[in-house]
Amino acid sequence: MAKPDLMERIVNLCKRRGFIFPSSDIYGGFRSTWDYGPVGVLLKRNVKDAWWRSMVQLRDDIVGLDAAILMAPKVWEASGHLATFTDPLVDCRNCQQRFRADHLPESGACPHCGAKDSFTPAREFNLMFKTYVGPVEDDAAVTYLRPETAQGIFVNFANVQTTSRKKPPFGIAQIGKSFRNEITPGNFVYRTREFEQMEMEFFVPPEDGERWFEYWCDERLRWFVEYGIAETKLRLRPHEPEELSHYSTSTADVEFDFPWGWGELEGVANRTDFDLRAHAEHSGQDLSYYDQEHDRRYLPHVIEPALGADRALLAFLLAAYEEEEVGGERRTVLHLDPRLAPYTAAVLPLSRHESLLPVADDVAATLRPHFVVDTDSAGSIGRRYRRHDEVGTPWCITIDFDTLDDKAVTVRDRDTMTQDRVAIEALIPYLQDRLP
Ligand code: ATP
Repeated sequence: MAKPDLMERIVNLCKRRGFIFPSSDIYGGFRSTWDYGPVGVLLKRNVKDAWWRSMVQLRDDIVGLDAAILMAPKVWEASGHLATFTDPLVDCRNCQQRFRADHLPESGACPHCGAKDSFTPAREFNLMFKTYVGPVEDDAAVTYLRPETAQGIFVNFANVQTTSRKKPPFGIAQIGKSFRNEITPGNFVYRTREFEQMEMEFFVPPEDGERWFEYWCDERLRWFVEYGIAETKLRLRPHEPEELSHYSTSTADVEFDFPWGWGELEGVANRTDFDLRAHAEHSGQDLSYYDQEHDRRYLPHVIEPALGADRALLAFLLAAYEEEEVGGERRTVLHLDPRLAPYTAAVLPLSRHESLLPVADDVAATLRPHFVVDTDSAGSIGRRYRRHDEVGTPWCITIDFDTLDDKAVTVRDRDTMTQDRVAIEALIPYLQDRLP
């Protein structure tokens, strides 16, 4: 399938099946903002849960945090965001559209109207959303919506370290909304002004920074593969020295082969002791760590894998999407990892016959404490299979007239479309055994 086509099909599928709607849709939408519908919210939760599970639940060396979005304005002064969290902005003198200077095509032509050499000189534009706390809109009340979740972690370093009694190397993980007044949002949920981040700051002795940087690059790449993205669709791109942020000694992007080309999915950076040092200086608090075993005090260096939940979700959707011919008919299927799929199973009575509906309700009720389950009795069974293929439901469970006698159901596999006859009693372990 042609790549731009694929993107259009994903956007259509997302709206048609209730994954993602344009925000404020009845008012014509609102500037590249998006709302997650009933199916999308399930997928997004599963993406975040998969990240949390591998980063926090399965490890002994990472703990969680949920910091506030609004923080003391001094945080953004100390972190350097007030002075340097900017993108270079240019205007086209011909059509008045605005662009990021570092995203312009090499031809020098305006991407909107095609005019040549029509751009104004670049100005630095701060991406933070400014707002006011309290009823008085004066300078003292100014604060910002956080543009990254990381700073909430740095300012809590001492709180978390002393209460959790973790010693470096250890990490703090956080999932939450971030806001950036992007000059050119676009490509669906790839770049938006409000988005969710999944960030982890890993605090290590200074001399171990590079080793842990390599470790987290490998680990993050592995995570995407574990959840179903082919290795050929992923690559690690180390930043050139001139690309590095002022605070970083090494950065690499995990890139995904998006329909418009390779694009950043996740950034892994060695942020050194830049943030802890800056916050220690600005707050006057000691943020160093005393290593009792070696009797020394140091400011830990920090390795940060930072991923967008929305970008990850888009990559999983793109990687899972397939259209194929089956028995002369076209079927669209999302081959999502069953742990990410919005529904684990759908319970489908063969028809709306009064003897089948209560059995279907009972089966669904038995499964619900264990799995996220949908029920659907409208339309032909073939059409209902197709609907669930389109949202990536790995197993469809059909209740037919034989079920009334043999207390068994047919389980259809999304990917192979093969069917098994399974006793209702054995359904929970059957599904559990098949989940990765
Ligand atoms: P880009 O170069 O694409 O603007 P970045 O390098 O500024 O991204 P980071 O600051 O490293 O991004 O943020 C970490 C992650 O957060 C990104 O890899 C991406 O997954 C996500 N992210 C950043 N900005 C956005 C955005 N505007 N919309 C959606 N996700 C975003």
